[in-house]
Amino acid sequence: MIALKDIEEARERIAHVVKRTPVLNSNTLSKKIGNDLFLKCEHLQKTGSFKIRGASNLVIKESEHHVKHVLAASSGNHGQAVAYIANVLGIRSTIVVPKDIARCKEAAIEAYNGIIDHCGTTSGERIDRAQSICKESGATFIPPYDHPYIMAGQGTAGLEILDQLDNIDEVYVPIGGGGLISGVATALKESNPRIRVIGVEPALADDTYQSFQEGKRINIGSTTTIADGLRASIPGELTFPIVQRYVDDIVLVEENEIKEAFTSVFTLMKQVIEPSGAVSIAGVLKRKAEGKRVVALVSGGNVDTTVVPSLFTDCLLSRG
Ligand SMILES: *Cc1c(COP(=O)(O)O)cnc(C)c1O
Repeated sequence: MIALKDIEEARERIAHVVKRTPVLNSNTLSKKIGNDLFLKCEHLQKTGSFKIRGASNLVIKESEHHVKHVLAASSGNHGQAVAYIANVLGIRSTIVVPKDIARCKEAAIEAYNGIIDHCGTTSGERIDRAQSICKESGATFIPPYDHPYIMAGQGTAGLEILDQLDNIDEVYVPIGGGGLISGVATALKESNPRIRVIGVEPALADDTYQSFQEGKRINIGSTTTIADGLRASIPGELTFPIVQRYVDDIVLVEENEIKEAFTSVFTLMKQVIEPSGAVSIAGVLKRKAEGKRVVALVSGGNVDTTVVPSLFTDCLLSRG
């Protein structure tokens, strides 16, 4: 378990590395959905996603123990974040990535002097490979979500939301392995238990939704959603109890709803976000119109230019 205090310490530890990202809103979009919608813009974060928050919290901590080589297994954003912070600290990094990694993500890892190691397509394959590299080389493994320092680092986005906005009713957060939502929910609930925290998952990768319903961690095997940051097949061992404790509800979104969210934000707010980052907005777009103040945590913006055309859809806000 992590506590508010751990997240406050993380905020200090990483303050010189991460950006305080802006909050944007759109009157047009808010009117259409009948709720005041605010976007917490982690697509404008260093490295293009919130992942730098957790990665820098853990890698800075490890560097205090004179670690010289860190290793991550990641579909991209966590790998970029680990490579970035390692480069800043002058530590070597190796990143195990899937064979079908987005080209822009791979290029960014290389730009931060990360050593790329291609392996399989599932997180299970990558984690096995990472563990064997660690054994051979003595590198320190930096997990993507299931670690108290990672969760606490991600939670700093929640502290910023509290600083930036008053009287929030709900915060929508995408769920992959659950590091982001467990940190953010801890920050929000331990500061103001009245704020509702809603998790959002693609229907094609609903491991946390199923686990939440059943009250135990369920493995759904490999998944194919366009939201490539959310393809975890089972919730984290450390993250899931926090999801059970603090998350009020989990909603599922279809692939076309993720595309609608992408198209709405591109057209109305001129923001380019990645499918995983559009998922939280897709969750809000499904919500009843009740005049609530609702935040969507937009988790990232790293999308390959070749993928962007496939994300536009005609049925812009068809429910409007
Ligand atoms: C990693 C990631 C997520 C999911 O975060 P978890 O901590 O694994 O739940 C969501 N969006 C983006 C853009 C990501 O990179």
